[in-house]
Amino acid sequence: CGIVGYVGRERAGSVMLDGLKRLEYRGYDSAGMVVAMPDGFEQVKRTGRVKALEEALSEAQLGGNLGISHTRWATHGNVTEANAHPHTSSDGKISLVHNGVIENYLGMKKFLIDKGYRFASDTDSEALCNLIAYHYAKEPEVDGKSRFLESVRKTLSHVEGTYGIAVVCTECPGELIGARKGSPLIVGIGKDENLLASDVNAITHCTQNVVYLNDNEVVHLKSDDFSICTVSSKSVEAVIHQVDWDT
Ligand code: GLU
Repeated sequence: CGIVGYVGRERAGSVMLDGLKRLEYRGYDSAGMVVAMPDGFEQVKRTGRVKALEEALSEAQLGGNLGISHTRWATHGNVTEANAHPHTSSDGKISLVHNGVIENYLGMKKFLIDKGYRFASDTDSEALCNLIAYHYAKEPEVDGKSRFLESVRKTLSHVEGTYGIAVVCTECPGELIGARKGSPLIVGIGKDENLLASDVNAITHCTQNVVYLNDNEVVHLKSDDFSICTVSSKSVEAVIHQVDWDT
């Protein structure tokens, strides 16, 4: 339902919580986030309101500068904490939030279980997360190419269905990847910070400079840089729009 991702200098947890609150009007049944800490990902999920997530977060005291967050409107699997997003691959390396429906997830899931990946939820989204981890594990290091980006791109080339996603990888501190097909995703370009959101309302408290991703586009963000390519690896020139509700 709702996505907010952050990479920059601020506390990712607080920026994303503000963003999720701005998306509450859309309706959802659970909320969660992952923040990248120096010693790995910290994940907090709750069923119910963003308020419940906020209370859990104030206890967890997450201080990292990179993260992804989500409000879920369940399509596959009940409303439970295990089914709430983010989902983390069973090797612990890839975390993902997803809006939309992966129609061919059962086939992916079977393939991945055969390869030794384990599933902790009933969602379609977790198949995407483990398939990225699978490609990441087998992707060779290629000069000048991000192995993380290549594994997301390859995974998306197999998807039937719709997605807006935000993804992080434990081995790629300071990197955030987003992509969309049939579900909106917006890139917010700030000063020494960049954001991802499913709705422009979630990020106008940080920046008014936005790029509207098109279907089949993948964006690779760092705090001071970003680039866009298509799922089939063609580079895309970004057009930055100014959101100004006054004019
Ligand atoms: N299909 C996913 C799920 O059921 C994502 C739902 C959403 O768009 O929030 O968890």
